[in-house]
Amino acid sequence: MIAKRMEGIHSVIRGPLYEQSLKMAAQGIDVLRLNSGNLALFGFKMPESIKSALLNNVEKATGYCDFRGMPDARKAIAEYHLSKGITDATAENVFIGNGVSELAETLMLALIDSGDEVLLPCPTYSLWSNSVIVAGGKPVYYMLDEGQNWFPDIKDIKRKITNRTKAIVLINPHNPTGVLYPKEVLVEICRVARENGLVVISDEIYDRLVFEGKIHVSTASVSGGATVVTMNGLSKSHIVCGLRSGWMIVSGEKGAAEIKDAVSRLMSVRICGNTVSQLIVPAALKDTESTAALVKKGGRLYEQSKAVTKIIKESGVMTCVENDAAFYVFPRFDHKAMGLKSDNDFCAGLLKEKHILVIPGSGFMYPDNDHLRIVMLPEKPALETAMTDMIAYARSLLS
Ligand code: PLP
Repeated sequence: MIAKRMEGIHSVIRGPLYEQSLKMAAQGIDVLRLNSGNLALFGFKMPESIKSALLNNVEKATGYCDFRGMPDARKAIAEYHLSKGITDATAENVFIGNGVSELAETLMLALIDSGDEVLLPCPTYSLWSNSVIVAGGKPVYYMLDEGQNWFPDIKDIKRKITNRTKAIVLINPHNPTGVLYPKEVLVEICRVARENGLVVISDEIYDRLVFEGKIHVSTASVSGGATVVTMNGLSKSHIVCGLRSGWMIVSGEKGAAEIKDAVSRLMSVRICGNTVSQLIVPAALKDTESTAALVKKGGRLYEQSKAVTKIIKESGVMTCVENDAAFYVFPRFDHKAMGLKSDNDFCAGLLKEKHILVIPGSGFMYPDNDHLRIVMLPEKPALETAMTDMIAYARSLLS
C-alpha cells in the first residue's frame, strides 16, 4: 500500500532514540535532549524587534499572499543577499516558503527525474537525503575530510559525478560539524559544477551564526556564473524555528530561468507560504545585533561551544574539530575499543546510563560508527555537566 520510496525516508534526529527519550520522560526521568537545534527549548528568546513586527502587523497576514512570497519580504531578502555579493539577488529571484525544509523538497521535485543523482556531503543533514529520495532521486555522498577541518574532498566530488548527476549540495556553515568553508573551497566546487553542468545548492541557514572574527562567504557570490540556489531562513538566527520562515534565491547564467519557472509552478499549486513568518522578515534582516550578540566572545553560542569542545579535547577519549559557527559539534570516539558494535550503541547507552540524548553519526550517513552529534544549546553549566557525564561514560566503556 505504501510507496516504495518510503523505505529510504527517515530522520534519526527524531527516530528511535528520541522516542525512547520520550518514554523515559513519561516515567519521570529527566532527559537532556541534545538532538535537535530548537533554540526556544533552551531559553533563547526571539528578539524584541521581531516581536513588535509580528504584533504590529499581524492583521496584514490574514489573506493568502503571492505564491512566491510577500513583496516587502522578498525585497528585504534580495537586499540582504545583494549585500553579501550575490549580484543576481533581486526580488524576482527570491522564493519564500515554509522553512528551508519545504523549499528543499520543492527544489528537488523541480530538478530531479527518477534515478537522477544528487551529490550530498557526508556527513549530511538528513533533510537533503530525504528530499532527494522523495523526488525519486538517488543521494550520492561525497566525503568531508575530518583531517582537513571537515572540508569537502573535491577529488571525491569529481570521482562521483556521473551522467545522471544533477546537483551538488553544500551546507555552509555545516550541520553536523559546525565548520565554515573558505572561499577557495566554494570557488573550486563552483568550477566543478560549471564544467559538468550541475546546479549548486547552497544551504546557508547558519550564515549569520558564525563566531566573532570569522566571515561567511555565500557560494553564489563566487560562482563564476554557475547556477546556484541559495537557501536561507530565520529559524536559527532569529529564534523562530516554529514560524517556518525560509527562502531560496535562484542565480546564475544557465538554467536559472527554467528552475524559476518550475519552482513557480510547484509553489503556485500550494497557494502560498505562511504569511505570519513573512511579516517579520524585513525587521529581522535589519536586526543584525541580536544575532551577533549570540556569537561574539562572551555570547551564549560562542561560550557554550568553547566549553564543550574544551572538555572533549581534554578528555583523552574523544576528539573533535572545533566548530566555527552554529551550535553543533561532531566528535569522534572509538566504538571498537569500547567494545561496541556501533555508534548507535554508544548513544543508546548514554541515554540509558546518563539520560543524555545525542545522535549517532550514522544518522547523518557517516559510515564509520565512530561519531556523534552534540547540539550545544543548553546553558554552559548544564552543558559542562552533561559533557563530563558523557566523558565518564566513554571512559567506563574503555576500562
Ligand atoms: N538546513 C540545515 C542545515 C538545518 O540544520 C536545518 C534545521 O536544523 C534546516 C535546514 C531546516 O531549516 P528550516 O527550519 O528553515 O526548515
